[in-house]
Amino acid sequence: AEEEEEEIIFRSQLEPAPIPSNLSLPQFVLQHVDDYADSIAIVDAVQATGKQFTHGQVRSLSFNVAAGLCKHFNIQKGDVVCVLLPNMAEYPILVFGILTAGGVFMGANTSSHPQELEKQIKHSEAKLVITDIHSYEKIKQPTNQLPIVVVNNENPPKGTISASLLYDTDSSSVTLPQVSQDDLCALPFSSGTTGISKGVMITHRNLIANLCSTLFDLDKAKPGENVTLGLMPFFHIYGFTGICCSTLRTKGKVVVLARFELGPFLEALIKHEVTFAPIVPPIILALVKSPLVEDYDLSKLKLQAVMSAAAPLAPDLQKSFEEKFPGVVIQEAYGLTEHSCITLSHCAPDHPRGIAKKGSVGFILPNLEVKFVDPQTGKSLPRNSLGEICVRSQCVTKGYYKNPSATNSTIDEQGWLHTGDVGYIDNDGDIFIVERIKELIKYKGFQVPPAELEAILISHPEINDAAVVPVPHEEAGEIPAACVVLAPGSFLTKEDVINFVASKVASYKKVRLVDFVDSVPKTAAGKILRRNVKEDLLKRLQQK
Ligand code: AMP
Repeated sequence: AEEEEEEIIFRSQLEPAPIPSNLSLPQFVLQHVDDYADSIAIVDAVQATGKQFTHGQVRSLSFNVAAGLCKHFNIQKGDVVCVLLPNMAEYPILVFGILTAGGVFMGANTSSHPQELEKQIKHSEAKLVITDIHSYEKIKQPTNQLPIVVVNNENPPKGTISASLLYDTDSSSVTLPQVSQDDLCALPFSSGTTGISKGVMITHRNLIANLCSTLFDLDKAKPGENVTLGLMPFFHIYGFTGICCSTLRTKGKVVVLARFELGPFLEALIKHEVTFAPIVPPIILALVKSPLVEDYDLSKLKLQAVMSAAAPLAPDLQKSFEEKFPGVVIQEAYGLTEHSCITLSHCAPDHPRGIAKKGSVGFILPNLEVKFVDPQTGKSLPRNSLGEICVRSQCVTKGYYKNPSATNSTIDEQGWLHTGDVGYIDNDGDIFIVERIKELIKYKGFQVPPAELEAILISHPEINDAAVVPVPHEEAGEIPAACVVLAPGSFLTKEDVINFVASKVASYKKVRLVDFVDSVPKTAAGKILRRNVKEDLLKRLQQK
């Protein structure tokens, strides 16, 4: 008889981390607030607003928001609420309010195009949008039924409602629903391994499990000891889980910055004595390269570590950063939306070596199982062999919203999440990421799904076919490049093509390079052969 081959599965070298089973995400994050209610939880770094809230206020206001959502907007268990806001101090309060009301937090990028938002809102059947004076007009009103709450404005524009209605609701006047850990908690959007952006169904348990795997010595830190920069977008799982929830759970303070500009960034680090800055490689590059850095007295920095995640970090860049900022450790981390945030991490105080080797994304976190699969044969591979990274844990999403076929092709029957990233584990248990085999392009760490841009390109009457692929770029990591087949007789220029796409998508998604081609190589089944498209394009670019 044929013998069944054993799977080769790698597990964490760290002790398993217990996951409490009876708390919702806000309850888990805020459970010990009584012990440090008066210490600052979150502050806007920019002087003009300078808003701040204590841990006690975060908890009590989130209850008010929850009560207000139930009472005034009839938000019920499972209802999706869209939050279309830049990072701001009240962001986690609003989200914890949504979750305490039994709702589902769907963060949206404020740079989204109105059409992109419309799609996201329609698809998720959001019941309410919370936004601000700068973005409310982006919400198209297909039904005219969607209530819009505007924050920070006592005189809300016509047709919108001031968020003070939420903050001022007496929470004792409303009975809030019972939330279970299997309930949906967040619906961030990700294109996964293929196709367009999809809602990723994240449960309360997914996020709690992720925090339990990544936060070591949960209760050891003293209130206010951990001061984290809140620059990564809170609508993305990196900002929400990795920054807001992590910092608040460890009694720390989040220093909020809505956007990256080198000057205000360095000022915020110095003024607020930030100890930990989770960022992305393009910001590390700016810190290394920009002469503006010399204008600041870096000896005043209290920074102990920066986290680099969301995209690969070049080893040379890491070296230059460490030379320029001696004593500041770079902790690389690898994660994905479908795994609720961090998946592999470079730094763990309980690990025998404390920190993984340079160039690796880290070791396997507690409670996680990882395997490396040969994409051709589906077999799991031994150490030091390149394979698709698959991960299994309680952080793995329930699946894509209303899209079982995408779910089934991403999470297999044994519960393994196929990440679309290729790498290997070495003899010491350090993991290296070598390549991305999924379609996704990452521009400055932001997701750009090529399928979305291709659909827009071929909607142009003078474009017969198109393929979008990543081209390496020093500052952005990658840029989206389009290989375009024009209709016979068309006089469309490259600039026309770039402008056409730019008029329909968020600015970070726009095509930044166009090449006209005679045809797009495809499989017999009509699937774009992306590797060929990319290799051919890179060859042509080198010749130019
Ligand atoms: P997102 O769901 O937007 O967080 O994107 C997840 C994807 O970003 C991963 O599947 C990787 O392709 C990429 N990524 C995240 N972190 C890293 C890292 N440290 N090194 C290389 N790629 C990364």
